[in-house]
Amino acid sequence: MTDRNQTLFERAQRVIPGGVNSPVRAFRAVGGTPRFIARAQGPYMWDAEGQRYIDYIGSWGPMILGHGHPAVLEAVQKAALEGFSFGAPTEREIELAEAIIALVPSIEQVRLVSSGTEAGMSAIRLARGATGRSKIIKFEGCYHGHADALLVKAGSGLATFGHPTSAGVPAEVVQHTLVLEYNNLAQIEAAFAAHGADIACVMIEPIAGNMNFVRAQVPFVKRIHELCKQHGALFVFDEVMTGFRVALGSAQSVYAKAIPGFAPDISVFGKVIGGGMPLAAFGTTREIMKHLAPLGPVYQAGTLSGNPVATACGLATLKEIAKPGFYEALAAKTQSLVSGLTQAAQAAGIPFCGDSEGGMFGFFFFDSLPQHYNAVMATDKERFNRFFHGMLDRGVYLAPALYEAGFVSAAHTEADIAATVAAAAEAFADLSKA
Ligand code: PMP
Repeated sequence: MTDRNQTLFERAQRVIPGGVNSPVRAFRAVGGTPRFIARAQGPYMWDAEGQRYIDYIGSWGPMILGHGHPAVLEAVQKAALEGFSFGAPTEREIELAEAIIALVPSIEQVRLVSSGTEAGMSAIRLARGATGRSKIIKFEGCYHGHADALLVKAGSGLATFGHPTSAGVPAEVVQHTLVLEYNNLAQIEAAFAAHGADIACVMIEPIAGNMNFVRAQVPFVKRIHELCKQHGALFVFDEVMTGFRVALGSAQSVYAKAIPGFAPDISVFGKVIGGGMPLAAFGTTREIMKHLAPLGPVYQAGTLSGNPVATACGLATLKEIAKPGFYEALAAKTQSLVSGLTQAAQAAGIPFCGDSEGGMFGFFFFDSLPQHYNAVMATDKERFNRFFHGMLDRGVYLAPALYEAGFVSAAHTEADIAATVAAAAEAFADLSKA
């Protein structure tokens, strides 16, 4: 095998478990050899063989401006010259906190961290510390990072506690995590009826991007909000993926339009706010944040938190996305991609549907949009895998698993979308032959 990707993969597997530093990159779900990326620019990435791909992963969400945006590059280069890390406060951290707060009205304070996992884990600790309660509710198919208490799959019956999804997580560590079906009103009612006084928080991906693309229905979000208020629990929106990706005000602004008076209690951000650098955050009211160290007893810290190069990258990114018309253009492009793919599938007689919000999208080899995890997993995986490889062979890089969302950036042009749809028409035609 002369393919340099294959050579690198074999070399990587000798020194890195599975050859990758994050599992989905290994192409286990779709099979084949992962592409080792050499460089990226705008909407494109080039692999070790020099093959170009139109990139619909965008580093799993952060690259909303595309790769190597000049204003972001300039800010990062300038910051790097000033110093990589000080372990002391900087003015840029205040600026980034102010920028996030200005765009998200539910937040009065933020704490910056280095990954979505850290932010989600810290949000849960804060929710537990602030309420003095232990139990948390999450939904099957939502991913909130790999903190032990969140690596849980649904129990067998209604309102039962879950089982660890990972070896190395003792059952006792997840004994307070209740896992319910997404968009299932009866289950959330039953959970609050049984455990209401003990629930610290309900954590949700408002538009779930870790089971492809599934929206929490408006009545579902509305009811959770009411139940949380009624029982003194906190509603945590994990916007690591949706934050500044689906709208300038994030997913909570989309739900606030549909539900008068709606705001989550705690929000978790990552990806876009770092513009591709390791940066994430959790934010809430001053009242809740007063429980966090050094003000209060809930401990949380980080050597690289608020890193000066990462904050420069995040700030420059937020500045670009706040420009007038940014999300309208991004949403229109993403919609035209999804409708182009849908029409091409229809023309080939293949059951297919898709959805998008802002610059985030998903599609399914199925007639209608799934509403929860089990429905997503019942869609046609074999077709997805063949489609994925058909697209990759034609220079289009989609997420390598049917349970992942896709991302369009401001750098994608109408010509890129048209080329993608043309590639899809060929890939669908191949699928319908077999
Ligand atoms: N929450 C959500 C919704 C995510 O999509 C992710 C990562 N894809 C995380 C949390 C964890 O973030 P990180 O990978 O930066 O730890």
